[in-house]
Amino acid sequence: MSEITHDTETTSAFIIEGCAIATVDAEGTEYAAGHVIVSNGVLRAIGPGPAPREAKAGCGSGPAPRVIDGSGCLLTPGLVNTHHHLYQWIFRGLAQDSPLFGWLTQLYPRWARIDEEAVFAAAQAALGWLALTGCTTTSDHHYLFPRGRGDLLGTTIIAAREIGLRFDPTRGSMDRGVSAGGLPPDEVVEELDAILDASQDAIGRYHDPRPGSLTRIGLAPCSPFSASSELMIRTAQLARESGVRLHTHLAETADEEEFCVARHGCTPAEYAESLGWLGPDVWLAHCVHLSDAAVKRLAATGTGVAHCPSSNARLGSGHAPIKALIDAGVSVGLGVDGPASQEAGMLVEELRSALYVSRLRAGGPDPEVALDARAALRLGTIGGARVLGRAHEIGSLEPGKCADLALWRLDGLAHAGIADPVAALVFGSPAPLKLLTVHGRPIVEDAQLLTADTAQLARAARRASDRMKDRG
Ligand code: ZN
Repeated sequence: MSEITHDTETTSAFIIEGCAIATVDAEGTEYAAGHVIVSNGVLRAIGPGPAPREAKAGCGSGPAPRVIDGSGCLLTPGLVNTHHHLYQWIFRGLAQDSPLFGWLTQLYPRWARIDEEAVFAAAQAALGWLALTGCTTTSDHHYLFPRGRGDLLGTTIIAAREIGLRFDPTRGSMDRGVSAGGLPPDEVVEELDAILDASQDAIGRYHDPRPGSLTRIGLAPCSPFSASSELMIRTAQLARESGVRLHTHLAETADEEEFCVARHGCTPAEYAESLGWLGPDVWLAHCVHLSDAAVKRLAATGTGVAHCPSSNARLGSGHAPIKALIDAGVSVGLGVDGPASQEAGMLVEELRSALYVSRLRAGGPDPEVALDARAALRLGTIGGARVLGRAHEIGSLEPGKCADLALWRLDGLAHAGIADPVAALVFGSPAPLKLLTVHGRPIVEDAQLLTADTAQLARAARRASDRMKDRG
């Protein structure tokens, strides 16, 4: 692997010791008590017991590293979120009892009101909450660009830089409105050429391909019922010419399958393949309704999946065949999905949701047929890193990888005494963080967000949410 040299921000050296560690490496190495050594944003060493004395003394001219006592805690890789719609933070609690199509139809007219200020407030709040609940890298799928409302994608990137998360936003799009046989009202869709121009512009302006980069752009037409075939094909061409990844929603509901069969004479997975939309540079959100043949095609083509179990449950969309996908060799990560269909917006809860949903689907807890706690943790870390094409940089604790770390407190009322720290994290309540670092930079410490005032973020989100109700 090429060495991670991208110097995002000067970060001091530090050591964490005395904590349980789940590395999530290929061997599943764990330590009951271990240490990590970090400098310049990169994990330099990891092992059992306390850190060597010479490491604590520092090297030569530099100051001695900070030593953090991790006793009572579990250290894992920071969680990786593969599907989100940050702007939806200010549209929570609406259309509570509707399935996807009804839910979308109720929300599109409200979403049409967004502007730069509203998206910024929503993104900061959603990102701050992701950080406070253990996420160090998130993707975002922003597909609503009402005309004349400023740089909505750019504002999410600024928000992510301020909160301090590693961020892989996608320039989403919709060009098939109601008048063209799609679901969204015409007022929220764009013209094909405008979308392609804006996509190219986003790549040129924001995409950073360097190892360990904090911002990578992807392209993401929204769904089969809101994007034309031509948009899908031309977007894939542009992404492949530009070396960026592709993302979309697929096979989320039975309604979508009906739509595809009626309109294209094939299932969503077959439709995606016919457009060149299966491949190692593609990841698909949901994949709830997949045939055995489709699972095999995803595996054969190296296509990734963003599993969003809580959103699927909230909308009653169904339960995805995650164990079958994993067993077939598909890269699967977890996603919170948009907070308008998953109000909690915390990835750590998705570990447990994924595990529970897989056991409900399988009708039993046998690891042969369903997820166990460690499989759930893999999905939320290295699985997500694979889906985003970042497995060489993040997703496990190994020397040379970015120091994206989550140090969870397990010595409080909710967790103390649970026999196994990984079970405490996955089966137990969302654990508070003693420390969260992105590229070695502390973002959360002692359950406090260091990069923003959370009361202020909450006020701004509330104001934006109110404004979206009042307008129009
Ligand atoms: Zn979504």
